[in-house]
Amino acid sequence: KMEKDRQKLEDFLNSLKGEVVSIIPNNKNLGLAQIYGIARRINFLLIIEKINDLKMKSKTIFIITAIMLIVTNTFAQKKAKVEVAKITDNIYKLEATTTFSVNMLAFIGDDGILLVDDCMAEASETIQAELKKLSDKPVKYIISTHVHGDHTGGNKLFGKDAIIIAHSNVKKQLTSGFNILQEFSEESLPDKSIDEEMTLNFNGEDVRIIPLPGGHSDSDMIVWFTKSGVVCMGSLLLTNQLPYIDYNAGGGIKAYPENIEKAISILPDDAVLVAGHGENATIDDLKKYSEMITKTTGIVQQGLNNGKTVDDLVKDKVLAEYDSWANGFVTTDFWIKLIATGLSNEKKNNKPAKESIAIPLYYTVKEKKAEAAINQYRELKKNKPDDYDFGEQGLNMLGYYLLGKNRFDEAIEIFKLNIKNFPDSWNVYDSLGEAYMKKGDKELAIKYYKKSLEINPDNTNGEKFLNELQKKEK
Ligand SMILES: [Zn+2]
Repeated sequence: KMEKDRQKLEDFLNSLKGEVVSIIPNNKNLGLAQIYGIARRINFLLIIEKINDLKMKSKTIFIITAIMLIVTNTFAQKKAKVEVAKITDNIYKLEATTTFSVNMLAFIGDDGILLVDDCMAEASETIQAELKKLSDKPVKYIISTHVHGDHTGGNKLFGKDAIIIAHSNVKKQLTSGFNILQEFSEESLPDKSIDEEMTLNFNGEDVRIIPLPGGHSDSDMIVWFTKSGVVCMGSLLLTNQLPYIDYNAGGGIKAYPENIEKAISILPDDAVLVAGHGENATIDDLKKYSEMITKTTGIVQQGLNNGKTVDDLVKDKVLAEYDSWANGFVTTDFWIKLIATGLSNEKKNNKPAKESIAIPLYYTVKEKKAEAAINQYRELKKNKPDDYDFGEQGLNMLGYYLLGKNRFDEAIEIFKLNIKNFPDSWNVYDSLGEAYMKKGDKELAIKYYKKSLEINPDNTNGEKFLNELQKKEK
């Protein structure tokens, strides 16, 4: 019974577009007769208001009984929650939570508001509402600690009027590689790109912006409020969590602890550190963090030197004594793999990757049909096989770009070409299945999801869609 109701409600919630949804706990214990004529205990009310074509307001009230509690919980998590914590009289930490949490900082005064990072895009409006409670002044500056979307997602909203300052690699990354396909608007991109330290005098305080690239990503910066003694560390510090290194975004295992040490050497001992994710920390915490990274790297390096493989090291649980650090999304096993990848990258000297074939094709499909891109693909593969990365991911990303534009048939042609090139990959069939599903061709969607699951029975995402499709068939 629960599964059935839950599915019904989830399907309904997923189909909503632009309606107002409120979930109200029935704290006042309103009696049943007062609300609706069904004899059940009511825990939550879900209210959906829809403005239909005639601009008439119709209101649907769902009664959620104890059985539906789980549904309301999972739904609520998807909406961004923002918690505001005061650090000093004019500096606030905002922590936005969707399926995970991320920190940003607001510096408020007579000159206006300065933000360090602005969280994931889904949280923008909630953040805007919280900022209005703190000040009626506009957001003047946004300083990005690095390129990742959970730190720059609010740029689209706040960047319309504010000046965005970021490391020069942020703009480079957002306008190259696969990011081109996301078509970031002008207001989302940094207005001022820097490579050297700069000081901004704002609200009567010197704000030092210090680039420390190459650890978490190649666009890392820390931001030091010199009078208040507050420092935004970005994702160079994930408090009580194992670090994450984004090698695709220019992060490195060697530079990570080196950059932390640089920060320690510059910052005052009593600084309050705001981490990219997690609680505030002290310089002592940062020293322990750096030590943990250096020691774990040493252990993995030693194991590899002794002829062990990465899988051996994972199986041997060589970092077991660091399990207490694994409170984020990086597990101890994953950290072993990240370190090993980093060490092998150092040996390879970080040769720049070839441009994906998706990039020239993207410019073609922007103006022409996918057929032209397919011809171009064949020609380039034949005549310039060494100039581009022809890996599976390229056509896959291009196909998803077309799907996002509702160009279903063209996306299908691209995914089919990818299957021809990579017939043993489960992911290419999964993508084609998704394209048929979005087009509304259930039969073919089922066929390709099944094919994908044949190759990779662990494709849980594909399994979920396949189950839904087969349910609808009946
Ligand atoms: Zn990040």
